[in-house]
Amino acid sequence: MDECIFCQIVNGKASARLVYQDEQATVFHDRHPVAPIHLLVVPNRHIDSVNALDETSTPLAGHLLLVAQRVAAQMGLAASGYRIIINTGPDSGQTVFHLHLHLIGGRRMRFLVGD
Ligand code: AMP
Ligand code: ZN
Repeated sequence: MDECIFCQIVNGKASARLVYQDEQATVFHDRHPVAPIHLLVVPNRHIDSVNALDETSTPLAGHLLLVAQRVAAQMGLAASGYRIIINTGPDSGQTVFHLHLHLIGGRRMRFLVGD
């Protein structure tokens, strides 16, 4: 997936403000933050979306969630709270087709979903 922007960020071929990386996951700042803290947690391996997950993805999916939890704690969000969003497909507004968790915090969020 040479043309995928998140694959390029994972491989260091495109720049991003990285905050965490291990063998399975990378975390970096969203370039258009909607809150004081807006990070993207992505698998290092290209996966289009939640629709492409299957039984073999269970450990990876759990790891991504735990990475989000740990990074949220490092950012000081454990007590104040945060939101994790995974857009999937056209109705959700997914624009980058490399699976990513939005980790959003640092301000009060009033609505369950936005436009
Ligand atoms: P989604 O609508 O869930 O697909 O979200 C994609 C997110 O990726 C958006 O919030 C974009 O601002 C963000 N994004 C796209 N390209 C980059 C990039 N090169 N670096 C950082 N964030 C990006
Ligand atoms: Zn990719």
